[in-house]
Amino acid sequence: MSETQYNTDVRNFTTFGISAKAACVAYYDSIDELERLLADQTLPRPLKHLGQGSNILFTDDYPGTILISRISRCDIGHASDGTVTVTASAGTVMDSLCLDMATRGIWGLENLSGIPGTVGASAVQNVGAYGVEAGDHIISVDAIETATGEHRTFTRDMMQFGYRHSIFKTDAMRDRYIITTVRFRLTTHPTPRLSYANLQTVVGDNPSPLDMRRAVISIRDSKLPDPATTGSAGSFFKNPVITREHFQKIEAMYPDAKVPHFIIGDDAVKVPAAWLIDKAGCKGMSQGGASLWPTQPLVIVNTHGNATGSDVLTLEHRIIDTVSTRFAITLHPEVEHI
Ligand SMILES: Cc1cc2nc3c(=O)[nH]c(=O)nc-3n(C[C@H](O)[C@H](O)[C@H](O)COP(=O)(O)OP(=O)(O)OC[C@H]3O[C@@H](n4cnc5c(N)ncnc54)[C@H](O)[C@@H]3O)c2cc1C
Repeated sequence: MSETQYNTDVRNFTTFGISAKAACVAYYDSIDELERLLADQTLPRPLKHLGQGSNILFTDDYPGTILISRISRCDIGHASDGTVTVTASAGTVMDSLCLDMATRGIWGLENLSGIPGTVGASAVQNVGAYGVEAGDHIISVDAIETATGEHRTFTRDMMQFGYRHSIFKTDAMRDRYIITTVRFRLTTHPTPRLSYANLQTVVGDNPSPLDMRRAVISIRDSKLPDPATTGSAGSFFKNPVITREHFQKIEAMYPDAKVPHFIIGDDAVKVPAAWLIDKAGCKGMSQGGASLWPTQPLVIVNTHGNATGSDVLTLEHRIIDTVSTRFAITLHPEVEHI
């Protein structure tokens, strides 16, 4: 049965754990219920769908309705060539899907282990870690248009997957559709992706998907705050992309050190935002109840659980200004502000 609550604190609906009031929160347990909620003109507008709120910062109260799915289903189809097609409800917890696949010996999602959030948001965000993005394996997405209730399937070629990007993050499509189902293509053939961090050293030769999952989780745990104890939304900023000339200027500032970077195009170099934040001298920066996580300066945390949206915003702007002064690079937040 769908359930609606009015004038609700959203603190527990995001991993940041920051207080703000939503005019309404509505849960649904079936697609029929979702359709009824979309048609119900008495619900405060605008409508915003949340998964686990692990990429969200509420900076103010929300005048509309937050929609949350309680549908968690997963169907697995095996083909004789080893291909596995997984059809998962958008409300399924992504890490539960990663665990389920790794336990069954199915390859594809193991490097995404430990990323908080739901399957639906994994497609919106094109979540990625350790050299793998959800979009590498998504073949299609079913969605409902909020304004019309019309059902539509988006195939992979329509999804515009990029770095933490999909069609659902464009201005024209943001909040226009609610994803109900995501289809993944995976495989039973061993395909370990070992190129990132020191995964190869940790897992050795012939790892299973479960070995990969354990290695990824142990590396993540050593760097990232545990959402169960410390509020955050993971990496707060995107890694900026700059020109080669700009990058050479930064290299010249550090003649005795190797500046980490990835060449991603003829004149495009991606530089880790964490390195820039660290070298700009932001380590240990804090503002009210918000601070930078000591082992990963890309993460802003709700230090003792009493940070406000405005603490985080002020700290965000101080970091952007400091990095810009030092490197002439403007950082952009990955975390969505509401
Ligand atoms: C500790 C920590 C570590 C993290 N590590 C990583 C990482 O390694 N890699 C990475 O990519 N991200 C990472 N993240 C960010 C976050 O986990 C991802 O962005 C995740 O996909 C968000 O999922 P969610 O369900 O919480 O979505 P939410 O934060 O609730 O929503 C994110 C966006 O998706 C939209 N949305 C959610 N569900 C639907 C739906 N069914 N239909 C349409 N739109 C929808 C929302 O409206 C919003 O715009 C991390 C976050 C934390 C807290």
